[in-house]
Amino acid sequence: MPPKKSASAPLQRPKLGSTVHYVSYGSPDGTYAAECRAALVAGVPAITRAPASRGPDLAALNPTGLFFKRVLQDDAKAPGTWHYDCADTPTPTPDAAAA
Ligand SMILES: [Zn+2]
Repeated sequence: MPPKKSASAPLQRPKLGSTVHYVSYGSPDGTYAAECRAALVAGVPAITRAPASRGPDLAALNPTGLFFKRVLQDDAKAPGTWHYDCADTPTPTPDAAAA
């Protein structure tokens, strides 16, 4: 699946029940960084003119609980978006863990 860089380009639709990555927002004070979370595609609504209809309904699996939301795809991995599985999921650095 070739990723597209533009958020406005037509994007692939995930299959119902597939697993993707949801990018968390992190905390405003920076205590928690935005990170990839596993998410299950819970629904794939029909595409309409409404921009929000372009995203699937996700059930994001966070360490602190589940999060349900219709989410737009962004391969640039902006917080609050989803993308297909990525190999470059950030890992905590020793400095970040000590801070
Ligand atoms: Zn990811």
